[in-house]
Amino acid sequence: MIADDWRAARSSAPPGHLDAAGYNIPSDRVHHAVVDHLRREREVGGHRAAPDLHPSRSALAALVGAGAGDVAFLESGTAAMAALLGGWRLPPGSRVGVGRTEYGSTLMLLHRLARLSGWKLLELPVDDDSRLDLDGLTSLLSDGLDLVALPHISSHRGVVQPAAAAGRLCHAAGVPLVLDVCQSLGHVDVGGAGATAYVGTSRKWLAGPRGVGFLIVPGLAEHDQDMDAAAPALGGHTWVHGDPSPLAGAARYETFEGPIAARVGLGVAVREHHDLGPAAIHARLAELGVAARRLLDGIGGWRAAEPLDEPSALVTLRPPPGADPEAAVENARSRAAQASLLVGAVPVGRAPADLPTPVLRISPSPGTRRETLDALARVLDH
Ligand SMILES: *Cc1c(COP(=O)(O)O)cnc(C)c1O
Repeated sequence: MIADDWRAARSSAPPGHLDAAGYNIPSDRVHHAVVDHLRREREVGGHRAAPDLHPSRSALAALVGAGAGDVAFLESGTAAMAALLGGWRLPPGSRVGVGRTEYGSTLMLLHRLARLSGWKLLELPVDDDSRLDLDGLTSLLSDGLDLVALPHISSHRGVVQPAAAAGRLCHAAGVPLVLDVCQSLGHVDVGGAGATAYVGTSRKWLAGPRGVGFLIVPGLAEHDQDMDAAAPALGGHTWVHGDPSPLAGAARYETFEGPIAARVGLGVAVREHHDLGPAAIHARLAELGVAARRLLDGIGGWRAAEPLDEPSALVTLRPPPGADPEAAVENARSRAAQASLLVGAVPVGRAPADLPTPVLRISPSPGTRRETLDALARVLDH
C-alpha cells in the first residue's frame, strides 16, 4: 500500500533507484512546488514571492516533537552542523563525547573546534557493531561530559543507534545531546530521542529537493545563554541598529538568502510524509532493509556489515575477502549502473574512525519492488 502510494506520487522515478541514503526521488508535487515557486520569483521578484514557511516548519518540527520556531533552514546538513556547533559556547577544557560512526565532515569540524577552543574529544564506547554502549555512556557521563554528538544512523552503516536511551541518559546527566538525523528522519522514528538539537537534510529519506539542510532546537529560548554566538554572522537581516544581536529562537541560525524554492519543496515533502504515515513508512523501510540483507548477504562473497535484522533500509555490503576493496566496490557499482541499478559506494573518508574499507550501500526507498533487489543480487553474484 505504502509502496504503491509512493510510486504513484512519482511519475518518472527510475525503477532501479537504490540510493535513498544519497539522494531520494522527490515526488511530482514536490517537483512542481519548486518549479512553481521559481516561476513566481521570476514574475513578482524574489522578496515579494517569499513564501510562508510556517506550516513547513511545523510539519518538520512535529517529527521530533518540536515547534515551528525551533527550526532553521540552511543549505545542507553540513552547514547546519557547522552553524550549530560553531556557535556553541563551551569553555576551554570542555569534554565532548563523539561517536566513532561520526560523519567525516562533522568529525573534521569537531577536531577543528577542539583545536581552536581547547575542547577535549572523547570517543563514545561502542560494541562490535559500532552500536553505542549505554553502560559505557553512563560511566563517561558520570566522569563528566559537556556535550555529546551522535549520528542516529550513519552514512556508512545501517545500525540504528539507541537514540532514545542515549537521550534519556544525557538528559538525566544534564548534558546536551546533538543528534545527527540526516540518515534517520523520514526513515526511522526519531520522536522519542529527546535530543537538545537535531541536524538533518532534505534530500535523503525525506525525499525533498537538494540544497536544504536544517536544524531543530526544541525550546531554544531556554538554552539561549549557551547558544547565541552563531547568529550574527548568519542572519544578515538581524542587524538593525548598534550591535548585531541574534534573533529569538532557531531563526538565529537561518540564512536569509538561500534556495527558497527548495525550502518550499521540502515543506511539501514533509507534509506528504505525514500524509503517507511516518509509522507505515518506517515499517516498510525496515522490511525492505531486512529483505535486502537476507537476500544479498553472502552473494558473490559480499557480506552485510550490519546485523541482518537491523530495522533500517540502509544496507551496506563489505567486499569479498581477497578482493581489492576499493576496486571491488567501484566495479560492483558500475556493473549495477549498467543494469540500471543505482547504488552507493561509500569511501573510507565518510567515517574515517569506523570504516576499515569502502562499502557498497543499498538504500531502497519505500516504493522499491522486490524485482529490483533480485536484479541487484544477479549483478553481485559473479
Ligand atoms: C549526508 C549526511 C550528512 C551531511 O548532510 P549534507 O546535507 O550532505 O551536508 C551528515 N551526517 C550524515 C550521517 C549524513 O548521512
